[in-house]
Amino acid sequence: MKQQFVVIGLGRFGGAVSRTLIELGHEVIGIDRNMRRVQEFSGMLPFVYEADSTDEAVMRELGVHLADHAVVAIGDDLQASILTTLILKDIGVPMVTAKAASEYHRRVLERIGADHIVQPERDTGIRLAHRLTSKSIVDYLELSPDFSLVEVVAPKEMHGKSLKELNLRAKFGCNVVAIRRADNSVNVSPMAEDVIREGDVLVMIGSNRNISRYEKRLQE
Ligand code: ATP
Repeated sequence: MKQQFVVIGLGRFGGAVSRTLIELGHEVIGIDRNMRRVQEFSGMLPFVYEADSTDEAVMRELGVHLADHAVVAIGDDLQASILTTLILKDIGVPMVTAKAASEYHRRVLERIGADHIVQPERDTGIRLAHRLTSKSIVDYLELSPDFSLVEVVAPKEMHGKSLKELNLRAKFGCNVVAIRRADNSVNVSPMAEDVIREGDVLVMIGSNRNISRYEKRLQE
C-alpha cells in the first residue's frame, strides 16, 4: 500500500531513506533547513522544502501532520532532533521513527513518544562484530534488548541431518525459523523432518545468551 512519508534531515542517512522509499513506490516529502541539501534532492523527490522542523506552524503549513509516517534523520543537533520528534507526535503523526546518536539520546526519544528508534552506527557495529568473529555468520539482527536473529551457514556436521536430529532448540535454545537454500529459495516454516544440505543458511531466533552460546560453538 502506498504510504505518505516525511523525511526530516537529508544527510547520508535521511537521503538513503528517502531515495529507497521513492524506489519502493511511496510518496515522500523531504525537509531540510540547509538549502544545499534541498537543491541536491530536488530532482529526486517530488516535494522537498527548505524549512526548520522545530517550527510547528511551518510543519503544519507543509502538511506534515497529514503524513502516515515521519522519519527524523537529524543526528548531531540533539535539541533539534528531540524538539522535532515532540512536535511530530503533538501534531498527530501516527508513526515517528527517529535516529539516535547515543544511548542517552535514544532514551530521551523513547520518553517523548518516538514509536521507533534506530541507532545506525551502533547497530552496524554490532552486526559487523558478529560477522567478523565467524565466517559462518552471514547476518545478525537485534530484535529486542533480549532477543536476536542470526543467519548462519550450516556447518559441515549438520549436512544430511534433519532439524529433529539436530535438536537445536533443546541443545542451544534456538529456533530455526527459515532455511535459505543454495539456489536462493527460502523455506519459511521448516518442519522437523526437513534435512539440512550443504550451502544452506539457517535463520535462527533465540535469546541473546543462547545465540551467543551457539556462536561461540561455531568458533571452536
Ligand atoms: P548524516 O549522518 O545522515 O550524513 P549529517 O552528518 O549530514 O547527517 P546531521 O547533523 O545528522 O548531519 O543532520 C542531518 C540533516 O538534518 C542535515 O542536512 C541538517 O541540515 C538537517 N537538519 C538538522 N536540523 C534540522 C532542523 N531543525 N530542521 C530541518 N533540517 C535539519
